[in-house]
Amino acid sequence: MQIKASVPAPEAQAQPAAATKVVLAGKLFDPYTLELLENQAITICNDSGMILEVTPFSNNGNDFASFDGEVIDLRHLTVLPGFVDTHVHFFLHPYAETSWDDQLTKESIVERTIRATVHAKSTLMAGFTAVRDLGTEGAGDADIALRKCLSGPGAIIPGPRYFCATRAIAPTGSYGPKSSLYVNKEGIDGVTGVEVADGCQECVKTIRRQIGAGADWIKIYADYRVRSRVSEVSRRVGAASMATFDYDELRAMISTAHSYGVKVAAHATNRKTITYLLSSGVDSIEHGYDMTAPDTTAVELLEEYAGLKTKYVPTLAAYYTMTQGQGEIWDHAVNTFKAALELDVGNIACGGDTGVFAHGGNALELSLMVRLGADWKKVLRWATLGGWECIRSRTWEGKVGETRLAQVGDLKEDPRIVGDNEVPFGVVRRGFIADLIATPGNFAADFEGAVSAESIQFVMKGGRIYKRDGLPLV
Ligand SMILES: [Zn+2]
Repeated sequence: MQIKASVPAPEAQAQPAAATKVVLAGKLFDPYTLELLENQAITICNDSGMILEVTPFSNNGNDFASFDGEVIDLRHLTVLPGFVDTHVHFFLHPYAETSWDDQLTKESIVERTIRATVHAKSTLMAGFTAVRDLGTEGAGDADIALRKCLSGPGAIIPGPRYFCATRAIAPTGSYGPKSSLYVNKEGIDGVTGVEVADGCQECVKTIRRQIGAGADWIKIYADYRVRSRVSEVSRRVGAASMATFDYDELRAMISTAHSYGVKVAAHATNRKTITYLLSSGVDSIEHGYDMTAPDTTAVELLEEYAGLKTKYVPTLAAYYTMTQGQGEIWDHAVNTFKAALELDVGNIACGGDTGVFAHGGNALELSLMVRLGADWKKVLRWATLGGWECIRSRTWEGKVGETRLAQVGDLKEDPRIVGDNEVPFGVVRRGFIADLIATPGNFAADFEGAVSAESIQFVMKGGRIYKRDGLPLV
């Protein structure tokens, strides 16, 4: 069959697309200086999605009358860098809907993946333009394929920049789901919530295999309720979080990952585990709620490691939603976070463990931080710049604390060449990618109202608009 070639109309050929667009921000939040700058014009390259320039404009409306590109008028809104959630699980949905065990053992990978695509969209529409997914929890390596669908030149569904860890790693016997019939068997029906590894050699091999499979991050369960099966007869022991790996195994996994430029996130709650992880060069501590028992030396150590860029991700939102803000674990999480505020720990990133509660409700983590006494400007910094500092890659030469994109302000590379997950984000300045959101809210008067999903009127990722006037465009 002969196919007729379509020839563009002469008018279409005569008008080349404008090279740039401009966003006019009534106010613009700068996470470096913590200032809200008035009347800023953000010029964006249409081709690369990079921010070319940020300059003040006078608010008489005439400055851009002759501008030949698109002008996006957000003079009635406050523009911020897109939020970053550094701890999500796209392959989980709220435990209040379906228990964790039932999700892993009764929902197929197909169902869980379809749910993940829906979660990706609601996350982006809530103003979160980048996330780190810390483990599929029984859904194998499905996150690698999801990342391909969300990012890169062949993206087919809307969602945030997606950094993923494939399967978390824990040693034999420590993690669920646990069969009630075959108590000596790992997992149920072949489904395990983690990849199991024991001994230095197997741990190293697991890290290498996961990096070979395409993991952006390594996730380790460094302590857990290993003896949960005795809880029927010994509640205290059953509920106790204890170290899973020995120190040699931890060190072997962290140094192997670092040799490839891959960072390591550790689920860790105990002071002792955290102290060891910090000295082994771990890149982020997830949860950390028992750092203040019996004293605050672990929190002080955390502050010491700020220079090495290890991040503390308190995941307050998960504990809050699981406990309704009551009980021992919640109290410990609050005490640890307040101790960190008191010591002015700066290396915090916002990650809710989102999935435990609804995707799209990610801003709960920010709101809880403010409710517990954090300065809202610092919380906005932790949710933007803090997210970028956490997620950006290491050098594979293994230099501690340095990253390949450290000189982000000077970056001139084209993201079509360097890749969606290699561009700097989290700040609205020249040389960063145009991941922008906007809200009409007043942070000082009503922080929670200003950052909620409903109040986010505008979402742009990589220079492309996904939400405008409060309505999704995709
Ligand atoms: Zn988690």
